[in-house]
Amino acid sequence: MNGPLLKVENLTKHYPLGAGLLEKNVPVVRAVEDVSFSVEAGETLCIVGESGCGKSTVARLLMRLVDPTCGRVLMNGIDLARLKTHELRASRRRMQMVFQDPYSSLNPRLTAGQIITEPVENFERLSRKQRNALAADLLRKVGMRPEIMHRFPSEFSGGQRQRLGIARALALQPSLIIADEAVSALDVSVQAQILNLLLDLQQQIGIAFVFISHDLGVVEHIGHRVAVMYLGRIVELAPCEALFAKPAHPYTEALIAAAPVPDPTRIRLELSVEGEVPSPINPPGGCAFHPRCPLAVERCRIEIPPLVPMRGGRSVACHVRSDLDHTPTRSAWTLPPTKAS
Ligand code: ADP
Ligand code: MG
Repeated sequence: MNGPLLKVENLTKHYPLGAGLLEKNVPVVRAVEDVSFSVEAGETLCIVGESGCGKSTVARLLMRLVDPTCGRVLMNGIDLARLKTHELRASRRRMQMVFQDPYSSLNPRLTAGQIITEPVENFERLSRKQRNALAADLLRKVGMRPEIMHRFPSEFSGGQRQRLGIARALALQPSLIIADEAVSALDVSVQAQILNLLLDLQQQIGIAFVFISHDLGVVEHIGHRVAVMYLGRIVELAPCEALFAKPAHPYTEALIAAAPVPDPTRIRLELSVEGEVPSPINPPGGCAFHPRCPLAVERCRIEIPPLVPMRGGRSVACHVRSDLDHTPTRSAWTLPPTKAS
């Protein structure tokens, strides 16, 4: 198979506000603007950004739970929008989703075994024996004992429920799983177990992930490449290590500096990103980050910066930083004076 597993081209989603769909010039929420990226087989692409920047909308567009305003999604080179309903159903097998809330995403009236085998039974009838065998196999894959297949969701902890959510996503043997804040509701120790489970599954069966999180610590642990979103757009896309070692976009830099640092040997810069995240209904002109950016020049107020490829597989949407042919060595942000000074 040549080419990427998943290719996203200029994906855009505007939600019109209010009922007046026939009126001209209704205000729209620009949830996702001109987003392009690809995912290779067996790769984990993380999408990070603050709440409201459009991450879940990207996930819904990938799953075709909502239709794009423009742009397209190609799976193995095939445009999902061109598929007939039954073909779309078949291609959906290849892409599955794990949700944030393991409490509301599992039907409380079904047993664990019924829940995780349900996706397969939507396609083919299973005998009781087949269903039990499949359930046992899926439970083992996510590190649970087969005996628990007869229990109900209410009998499980948050981490166990998320394991069931993952088992259900695996049932159709997808080549890609989209996980939207899949560990965000869990305790830190349970988070680590689930992340390690995902890493193991990737090693064993070569599955690819689009892993969405607002938590940079989680992303650093699991990502091969990272896309940073700000107000509906990707502002930086880079290999995980390079992104954390030398963020190129001033926004990425601020995000990393603001994240809690588990490793005390790493220096934490106290950056103050001034102001609130602007509204996606009326985003600032030019670069949407310019009102908060210490590097902003006149051009940033006028021209939207395109995502420009730089060295080392990194792309940056910044007029100042993408003009440089190397990753900057100096911070965009001036350091606040230390207490002693
Ligand atoms: P994230 O997952 O990064 O927190 P979302 O994709 O959920 O962000 O939301 C992006 C923006 O789109 C937000 O401003 C949100 O309010 C808006 N939005 C999401 N879904 C809808 C919808 N169905 N109708 C109107 N606005 C929406
Ligand atoms: Mg979300």
